[in-house]
Amino acid sequence: MRPFPPAGKPAVLAVTLVALIAAALGAQTAPAPSGPVIRLAYRSLQPGEPIIVFLEADRSVKSAAVTFLGRTAELRPTRSSPTTRLSRTAPGNPPGADVASVFAFLGIDVQTKPGPYVLTVRLRKAGGVVENIRKDLLVVARTFPSTKLQFKPEYVTPPASLQARIKREAELIGLAMSVVTPEWLGEGPFVVPNDAPSWSNFGQRRLNNNVLQSLHTGLDIRVPFGEPIKASNSGRVVMASDLYMGGKTVIIDHGLGVFSTYGHMSELLVKRGESVKKGQTVGLCGTTGRSTGPHLHWSFKIFDARVDPEAMLRLPL
Ligand SMILES: [Zn+2]
Repeated sequence: MRPFPPAGKPAVLAVTLVALIAAALGAQTAPAPSGPVIRLAYRSLQPGEPIIVFLEADRSVKSAAVTFLGRTAELRPTRSSPTTRLSRTAPGNPPGADVASVFAFLGIDVQTKPGPYVLTVRLRKAGGVVENIRKDLLVVARTFPSTKLQFKPEYVTPPASLQARIKREAELIGLAMSVVTPEWLGEGPFVVPNDAPSWSNFGQRRLNNNVLQSLHTGLDIRVPFGEPIKASNSGRVVMASDLYMGGKTVIIDHGLGVFSTYGHMSELLVKRGESVKKGQTVGLCGTTGRSTGPHLHWSFKIFDARVDPEAMLRLPL
């Protein structure tokens, strides 16, 4: 895997309304830049990749939102301190403190068609002034592996008596991830839920019992049976249920539209509504649901985009 390059290298784009760019950021002695600075952080612009949009702006910007691939996300403070909120920057602070830092997560869904797309950041300023900053992005094709799997027939063609349950559970999963918490609940970068090696099989096309049936939208980790599965970042549990397909599953809301899912566990050790800390054990590895043996199915959604967990680990948080 290619790591995120350090700031300033080509993959971190800077768009600015003034000639002054990143040099002024974080410099406590220099005055704040007079225009907003937008930075995008990503591993690559390909299907299945997450993007973070960072904005540094002065007090004239009251709020900001980014639109990309049909989804609009409000930019929110990078820390929970109220002084970092765009609209609440305290008057009388030194110039450096007037620069608010906000961000938003976006995802390029694993099935996004490669091609040119426009990313727009909309700034709402004092006096009702609205300013749009456009950036052209090219989503490049990515080749995903394919494989053949054998399951018990009732998991590939579930009996009619189970169809209603599967449909209802899919709706509940969608519902659990439909509410966007407007603040970042995570603490620092995402971490692996267990140190065991993975199959690096995100995006894999699957022939289940010789029928091209599914796209693998998570990452499978070879965790031995009964070993702890840990929250990859802090957040709130929005689902802790035993599902027909996913088995014993935990979904964590990390805020700002980012959700992580842990499936096929043998035991659930958290409850819906509970706040969890990064690294906290949420369950034990198992092989419940549609599973061929003990492993962890780990996946991420950013709004409705399914993204690669290995890329989430590299986000500069
Ligand atoms: Zn899986």
